Amino acid sequence: MRTGSDVIVVGAGIVGSSVAYHLAAAGVNVTLVEQTHPAGGPSGKSSALLHAFYLMPELSQLAIRGREILISLPEISGEGPFVTEIGMMWVCGNDNEASWKAAAERIRGEGALIETLSPQAFADAAPGFALDNVALALWEPEYGYADAFGATNAIARAAKARGARIKQNTLVERLVKEDDRIGGVVLADGTAMKADAVVLAAGPWTRRLLTTVGLDLPLHVERHPMAVLDAAGKARQVMPFAWCDDISCNYARPDNDGVILAGTWAGGGTGVRHEQAGRPRFVDNPDDYMEGVEEAESVKILETFATRVPAMADLGIRPGYAGLYDMSPDDLPVIGAMPGVDGLFVAAGSSGHGFKTGPAVGEAVARLVTEGAQPILVPFSPSRFKAA
Ligand SMILES: Cc1cc2nc3c(=O)[nH]c(=O)nc-3n(C[C@H](O)[C@H](O)[C@H](O)COP(=O)(O)OP(=O)(O)OC[C@H]3O[C@@H](n4cnc5c(N)ncnc54)[C@H](O)[C@@H]3O)c2cc1C
Repeated sequence: MRTGSDVIVVGAGIVGSSVAYHLAAAGVNVTLVEQTHPAGGPSGKSSALLHAFYLMPELSQLAIRGREILISLPEISGEGPFVTEIGMMWVCGNDNEASWKAAAERIRGEGALIETLSPQAFADAAPGFALDNVALALWEPEYGYADAFGATNAIARAAKARGARIKQNTLVERLVKEDDRIGGVVLADGTAMKADAVVLAAGPWTRRLLTTVGLDLPLHVERHPMAVLDAAGKARQVMPFAWCDDISCNYARPDNDGVILAGTWAGGGTGVRHEQAGRPRFVDNPDDYMEGVEEAESVKILETFATRVPAMADLGIRPGYAGLYDMSPDDLPVIGAMPGVDGLFVAAGSSGHGFKTGPAVGEAVARLVTEGAQPILVPFSPSRFKAA
């Protein structure tokens, strides 16, 4: 890309905000366009569990770099801190013990702290948690969770401080193609914005925008309900760390010491999804889905913890909320140049586990736009799908 050329980033979630920040920091003339406000979509509802543990090396590397960027936000933005390092605990059964051990060893080699714990060591480290079927636990003491809304907004403000233009409450109606190149976008009020490159970081709305230039990707949208458990003064006693259980297919974390957030987990956190967990709750229109969570849904989530964390059964159920996952067929993100339209890049399909990697994905996408191919992004290329 030539110096001084204009880039439009569509969507100010964690990924788009980070792309805009890194482009602006590199001196690129960039405009970030967001239909609501930064973190107004799924990023703002993210549980934002942070961990380096992934079975896929590229995801681990992006997660490690993502944490570094989140940790450095006080220097970058003058705001924060946004990371709570309470540690991340995982458990799995016999079926995944060998692959998890191997991944943990690899991740240690990449510089992250990750301990493998025997069932007994897990029992010692997690009083109140039952051992049933646990063959192995992993403990990542440097990780935990982030304030997703605060961190995304801080990155967007840091982008603005470095010269990015941010257009909030501004809907991109369609992309504009000129011959085989991207020409820019047209806003809902009819304004045409020209650009040499467009980065589509529109989460669940990505597919809709692609169709405006005759492109498609096999992305679909799922509703993801969160139970909010009342645990005033004892959230960290009942759930002392960020938690993910491969056996019971659930995850949780305290939010300060007031509540515990809990959800079901289908394997996206390792880059491999449990097929038996199914893919319910498809959403046709991301502008029209049930954002509230019925008590019966929260009870269903809570029931998955009944054996492992019996103390959770005594907690009150507050109104829950649901966000959207933009899913790809292989649960891996879809990041790269879109074949068919030069200058159009996509960074979407984060499949329910893209907050922790988002800051690093933004950094890599900014380099992709300015410098060309980035090896770490190769496995996520849109061209892996026939429809692209
Ligand atoms: C309830 C929940 C819990 C989660 N928990 C975790 C977790 O523990 N750990 C983790 O790593 N990940 C988690 N995730 C996933 C993670 O939040 C997402 O993968 C990540 O936030 C996606 O970020 P994004 O920037 O790609 O997209 P989004 O956050 O979807 O942002 C896209 C933005 O584009 C804007 N936009 C769309 N269309 C247009 C348009 N036409 N014009 C202008 N703007 C537009 C939207 O308003 C939105 O703000 C969770 C997600 C949910 C919903």
